[in-house]
Amino acid sequence: MRRFGRFCSRPFRPTPTTLSLSAAAVVSVLSSLAILAFNPEQDNANGPVPTRWASAQVIWSLNPSANNVITAGGTDISTTITDAFKTWQQAQVGGQSLLSLIITRGPDTTANGVNSSDCVNTVSFMDPNASADFPTGTIAVTFIATVFGSPTGGTYSCTSPPTSRSCPLRSCIADGDIVFNPAEQFSTTTPPAPNAFDLQSVATHEIGHLLGLDHSGIAHAVMYPFGDTSAAGVQRTLSVDDAAGISFLYPNGSFAAATGTVSGSILLSPTGAFAAHVVAIDAATGNAVIDGLTDTQGHYSLIGLPPGTYNVLALPLAGAFDIMNFTGWECGYASNPLNCTGFPATPTNYTGKFY
Ligand SMILES: [Zn+2]
Repeated sequence: MRRFGRFCSRPFRPTPTTLSLSAAAVVSVLSSLAILAFNPEQDNANGPVPTRWASAQVIWSLNPSANNVITAGGTDISTTITDAFKTWQQAQVGGQSLLSLIITRGPDTTANGVNSSDCVNTVSFMDPNASADFPTGTIAVTFIATVFGSPTGGTYSCTSPPTSRSCPLRSCIADGDIVFNPAEQFSTTTPPAPNAFDLQSVATHEIGHLLGLDHSGIAHAVMYPFGDTSAAGVQRTLSVDDAAGISFLYPNGSFAAATGTVSGSILLSPTGAFAAHVVAIDAATGNAVIDGLTDTQGHYSLIGLPPGTYNVLALPLAGAFDIMNFTGWECGYASNPLNCTGFPATPTNYTGKFY
C-alpha cells in the first residue's frame, strides 16, 4: 500500500526581542515586485523579498541517531544525507553550473529537534517535540529563522558560535533545522522498503527549504509539496525548476546571460489575480519547466529558463494544492510579517488558460 504525506516548511520569524530589526521591518507595504518563479521563501521587508543565506556558505551538522530508518541493502544515513546536500551543490541549468554556493558538512551533533537560536543547522530524526512539530500527514519539516528589514536585515544573535550573523540584504536565513517525523518510516534502499519514504528524496526536498526555496507546483520537481512511499515517490534529482530556483537565489556570473525570463500579467476584472499558478511549458516537449505564482497585481516573472521556446499555462491555484502549501512564499505579502499572517485573498473563480 502506498502512503502519502506532506512535506512542510515552517518559516520562523523571531520576535524583535531576540534580534535587531530596523523599524521598517514591521511596516506592511505591498509592492508590485514580481520575483516569483519557483517560489522562493520570502519576507515582507517593505514588500516581498526572497530570503537566502547571506554568505552563500552553509554549514550543516547531522545527528545520525534514528529508530525509523531502514538502511539494510542501502546506504547509511550519513552518506544519504550528504548525497542530498551534494545534489543542490551540483545543480545545473542547461548543462552548466550557474551557482555560487558552498555547502560544508560540520561535525556531527547529539542535538535533536529544533533550536532556531543556536545558529547550528542540524538534521535529526528523534525530535522531542514531535507531537507539536508534525501535524498529521507531515513527513518532515524544515524550520528556518530569517532576519529581515529595510534597507538590511541587521544582525541575528546566536546562543552559540558564530554568536551573530549579519544580514546585509533585506532578508537572510540565519538558522535552519531539518527534522524527520519519528512516527514515519524511511529507507535508503532502491526501491524504498514497503511503507517507507525514500530518505534521500525527502532530505533533498527539505534541504531545498533550508537553502531558501518554497514549494513548486510542478509534480516532478523535488520541491513539489507531496510525497509517497512508492517507487514513484523517489525524486532524488533536481528538475529544471529546482535547479533554476537555487541558481536564482545564489547566482554566479553566468546566470543572467545563460537563462531567460518570461513575464506577464494574469488579469481578472477589475484587478490582477493574486497567486495564480503560471507554468512555462517547453513547446517542443510539452514538459512543465518552471512555474511560479503571481503577485498582488497579477504579475509573474518566470526566471532562469534555459534557451528554448515556451508556452505559458495560467491556472487557479486549486486541485491538488492551495495557497497553504506556499506559505513560506506568501509571507512576503503578509500584513504582519513577524508571525506571517494577513495574506491577500487568492481568487480561484476562473478557469485555466493556455497562451
Ligand atoms: Zn516542503
